Amino acid sequence: MFDALKEKLSSLFSKLGSKGRLSQEDIDTAMRELRRSLLEADVDFRAAKDLIAKIRERASGVEVLQSITPSERISAIVYEELISLMGKPAPLIISPKPPTVILMAGLQGSGKTTSTVKLARLLKNSHNPLVVACDLRRPAAVEQLKVLAEGAKVSFFGPENKKGKNDTDVLKVVKGAVKYAEDHMNDVIILDTAGRLHIDDELMNELKSIAEILPPHEKILVVDAMTGQEAVNSAKAFHELLNLTGLILTKLDGDARGGSALSIRTVTGVPVKFAGVGENTDALEIFSPERMAGRIMGMGDIQGLVEKVKAAGINDTEIKSPGKIAKNFDLEMLLKQFEQLEKLGPIEKIAGMIPGFDKIKNFRAEDADAGALKRSKAIIQSMTHEERRNPRIIKGSRRRRIAEGSGTSVQSVNQLLAQYEQMRKMFKSFTGSGGSRKLKSLFGFGR
Ligand code: GDP
Repeated sequence: MFDALKEKLSSLFSKLGSKGRLSQEDIDTAMRELRRSLLEADVDFRAAKDLIAKIRERASGVEVLQSITPSERISAIVYEELISLMGKPAPLIISPKPPTVILMAGLQGSGKTTSTVKLARLLKNSHNPLVVACDLRRPAAVEQLKVLAEGAKVSFFGPENKKGKNDTDVLKVVKGAVKYAEDHMNDVIILDTAGRLHIDDELMNELKSIAEILPPHEKILVVDAMTGQEAVNSAKAFHELLNLTGLILTKLDGDARGGSALSIRTVTGVPVKFAGVGENTDALEIFSPERMAGRIMGMGDIQGLVEKVKAAGINDTEIKSPGKIAKNFDLEMLLKQFEQLEKLGPIEKIAGMIPGFDKIKNFRAEDADAGALKRSKAIIQSMTHEERRNPRIIKGSRRRRIAEGSGTSVQSVNQLLAQYEQMRKMFKSFTGSGGSRKLKSLFGFGR
């Protein structure tokens, strides 16, 4: 999935490489290439244009950081903007009052019947779904749904077969399905409606009359991602007529023009709820903008990189060099480090952002004593601004007040202040050998 786009982006970022600073020309070239790659992947051109404008604006503000190359920052920006392009995840609507009715629509060959069974199979973990054959004009369609449902061990309901001929009254089938669901405790009914080569009035009228008898909670259109902009156009047309609640994009396992997955939501306003990623009935994923963007960026840990960038953004303005840290290191800074530590997890991430700390390896926040971290934070939070900036003024009575305010003891306050002092001194030396051991022993985090 997205192999071509992924490859292009990765070559784009490797060209930006480890340059310490990017010129406007570098950014312009990169944005041109990005635009071309998106269009080749069949991302809607307006969506691509807006996306590039946002990325360009953010990329131009990228300053030089100690621990992160501009290329890394720009890839993090691209990742974030791709996610925001795909929109917030939209979970399937499940009615509090069963049965939940899901109407599946789609053009012939889009993967509608397969997706109906895939969805039922996915829902089987927590529900008792029933798939219903409503495409009565093509007997083969009924049979296909039945066979797939049997294979996936999903309940099936279809038209009555009299003397080798199927009933052709869709509304009768729908009513029959409701009764069947009641009798068999099916709490989700998924209607596999008729497929067509094109949208026509007859199809729309049929869908509308089904919806009248059995109002659906979800109206899902299945679209074939391989048809690129066609998929987007048919989604737009169906939405105007049916007021869709969601999309399933199929064949995202193929690579061709997967870009429609990126822009279909912005263009149509309908959220993608699931992605079909193979022919088998277990090949359906809940659509996750983050996962999709991660795949496109081709970086397992892009999320980690984004966090690193965010955290570095905070620290970089204050921390420039080890000498400066030693000079400015106060309890306010220490508190910020604690907060980062809590948010980020592995300390290497924070350590990597502070010059010199990046030498310290094999120390993970999981080893940390979370209680000690919380206590240390509470102690600093109970100090006045002045005290945090200038810890030397914290004498006897202040220590008692802080201990009380933080719900700790004077001894704990003394300990934190001693540790702070020790850490401040260590800033001058920890780039040398033994830094890791010394750091671990601080604050009781490593044992
Ligand atoms: P319908 O006419 O819309 O009901 O489409 P079908 O469900 O019959 O699917 C048409 C073809 O697409 C079948 O050969 C399916 O196996 C295939 N198909 C459906 N979804 C996917 C998918 O996510 N990935 C792949 N590779 N093939 C799919």
